[in-house]
Amino acid sequence: MPTDEPSNGRDTVEYGTCPACRYVMLPILPLSPCGHDDQPVLTPLTESGIVYSWTAVQRTLEESTTLAMADFLEGRLRITAPIIDSAEIAIGDRVRVTLGRDTPFGLYRVGN
Ligand SMILES: [Zn+2]
Repeated sequence: MPTDEPSNGRDTVEYGTCPACRYVMLPILPLSPCGHDDQPVLTPLTESGIVYSWTAVQRTLEESTTLAMADFLEGRLRITAPIIDSAEIAIGDRVRVTLGRDTPFGLYRVGN
């Protein structure tokens, strides 16, 4: 598993892989969407993903959240989460996943 860059002290999130069919999931659900009962194998998601799309959500007059969809693991895992620490994001940017503040997960930009 390649590691693109240091995590800069951010929490690393683990994704699950079904041992029966290799289906990957995040979050890890009690009942895997693939339908197998096997306990998923947990792996730290240390590699970056590519932003596929994003949208800005205006929460209040002053406050907006940028939500991005990013593809990880050569497109096997798509994660939708808020961008942390920045409103600047573009399609094709590289992001990593960490624990979120108001949501289970957050994404932060690491490059383009
Ligand atoms: Zn499975």
